[in-house]
Amino acid sequence: SEIGIKNHLIKRINMREQLVYNLEIIPLEIVVRNVAAGSLTKRLGIKEGKLLNRPLVEFYLKNDLLNDPLVSEEHIVTFGWASNDEIEEILSLSLRINDFLLGFFLSKKIRLIDLKLEFGKFWDGEESILMLGDEISPDNCRLWDLNTNKKLDKDRFREDLEEIDTAYKEVAHRLGVISEEQFKKTLKNEI
Ligand code: UDP
Repeated sequence: SEIGIKNHLIKRINMREQLVYNLEIIPLEIVVRNVAAGSLTKRLGIKEGKLLNRPLVEFYLKNDLLNDPLVSEEHIVTFGWASNDEIEEILSLSLRINDFLLGFFLSKKIRLIDLKLEFGKFWDGEESILMLGDEISPDNCRLWDLNTNKKLDKDRFREDLEEIDTAYKEVAHRLGVISEEQFKKTLKNEI
């Protein structure tokens, strides 16, 4: 909101609940990548960790039965998942969000490797407003420690690495979501 990105969040109710606008979700996952990782490395044989010389945007169709396949802008327009104008707006919003978050995470000594975003339409009568309708968390971003490249996201779980809980709380702590005291308690509990 601070950088003028319209989004579905109205207010936070408690640690688990939020009041949000009811959006007509566009059936696409928009992935923005700054560093090669995950499916990009597997699909194209690019080495994990390769710094990309510009942010790479990819579209995936939201369809679990088909395992969310990669699709092109041509597919999106042909099958009516979004219009050309909507794609253009989604691209520019996604790049702005990525730009902002790169700097934001860097200030917390975290590298934003990639992230996934979803958008939707909020209908106000005949008019619709395009809004971001997603979370930003270690579940839909790849976050690596700036100094050590330690993974601080869901890849810890997928790659069977230890300290999943600590890694998530490390991010929460650096972002000021949990206090130093709460974070230290976690460390003690894990030991
Ligand atoms: N991602 C996500 N939900 C999905 C697929 C991907 O949040 O259903 C995120 C993932 O966490 C990563 C980025 O999108 O930050 C790129 O994911 P990738 O295409 O590399 O797929 P992965 O191998 O992570 O499934």
